[in-house]
Amino acid sequence: MTTRQDCLDRDASDPLAALRHAFDLPEGVIYLDGNSLGARPKAAAQRAAQLVSEEWGRDLIKSWNTAGWYTLPARLGDKLAPLVGAAPGEIVITDTTSVNLFKALAACLQMQAASGRKRIVSERANFPTDLYMAEGLAGWLGQGHELVLVDTPEQVLDAVDADTAVLMLTHVNYRTGYQHDMAALTRAAQSRGALVIWDLAHSAGAVPVDLHAAGADMAVGCTYKYLNGGPGAPGYLWVPQRHQAAFRQPLSGWWSHANPFAMDSRFAPVDGIRRALCGTVPVLSLALVECGLDVFARTDMTAIRAKSLALSDLFIELVETRLAAYPLSLVTPRAHAQRGSQVCLAHPHAYALIQALIGRGVIGDYREPGIMRFGFTPLYTRYSDVWDAVDILHTLLDQQDYDIHAHRHAVT
Ligand SMILES: *Cc1c(COP(=O)(O)O)cnc(C)c1O
Repeated sequence: MTTRQDCLDRDASDPLAALRHAFDLPEGVIYLDGNSLGARPKAAAQRAAQLVSEEWGRDLIKSWNTAGWYTLPARLGDKLAPLVGAAPGEIVITDTTSVNLFKALAACLQMQAASGRKRIVSERANFPTDLYMAEGLAGWLGQGHELVLVDTPEQVLDAVDADTAVLMLTHVNYRTGYQHDMAALTRAAQSRGALVIWDLAHSAGAVPVDLHAAGADMAVGCTYKYLNGGPGAPGYLWVPQRHQAAFRQPLSGWWSHANPFAMDSRFAPVDGIRRALCGTVPVLSLALVECGLDVFARTDMTAIRAKSLALSDLFIELVETRLAAYPLSLVTPRAHAQRGSQVCLAHPHAYALIQALIGRGVIGDYREPGIMRFGFTPLYTRYSDVWDAVDILHTLLDQQDYDIHAHRHAVT
């Protein structure tokens, strides 16, 4: 059985150990929630200060040109590209994931207009905002578009038929940590005439993703989770070169215009990925995304995946050996190919337990119904953190030291 000393030994020989120093983590906290809000890169504080005092404070509006604010969405998109198998000039970081999904869906539905296909297929277990955006768009179009939902990953392909315009899936499920086979599903759905949009919110920076190898049609995702971009940092939209000419989105603001400062009264989309933009980007927040991406540039997704699986395997092993006496059940798939970078456990008092863990410095989170979620972020999570987290959970369970009437916060 694995001991705490074994975990310390693994930390000592961990090839990614040095990257933890790139982050500012509070003393005494075991942070297992990087899947929801990534930790702060140390560089972000300095970058924010420079941005506010020099670029904004001193150089004022000149900074749109001199500090590269104007080109930030695509320049940072190019830095993100290698993490998801995209080419340069195919990603912009802008807007929210929800809004980017709306743009991608609208563009795909329009690309399918001539085919007469009007259905969007997704999973009931998808992150709700994805479903809300699809439902909202379908209803608003008022042309008979509809969202069709399936209940299990195995049912997805059966639902893709001659009426399907778009298959819209989240690669790694936010609640269970289940990972789809992106390449297989993409190929199969496309062979039935559908376009395929992937949401990478829980994948980018967490598991290897190769959008081009999979032949995906479009993708969206977040930067504030595993990519450590900061609270509310903008999301991103990937449109591969082959679809850019056909990509038309209804949020055709001036930033997607061929010549924004011509102040033309008529809209004409710019060539290339900037046509996925809408309006002025949140420079303060967007600029900090670079600090997270720079840490990824010091390693690669193969090394990150190897450690991610080692951490989540260790967690599962320790829970199953040390906590076997308690009513915990593993929600996340055991098979590596079907696992993201989180492990979820169901317990009758999951919310109370998560609150008690947070009280002891182990930060995970809670998702309905009855699920404790633990994210493993190889850039800064140590093997000994995993040991200590399970040890503290053991103590809480053993002493029943949790309040089953714990106050439910707005954000769980
Ligand atoms: C976190 C997450 C989002 C968040 O969307 P926002 O618009 O950035 O709030 C969307 N989709 C999935 C799958 C997510 O996990």
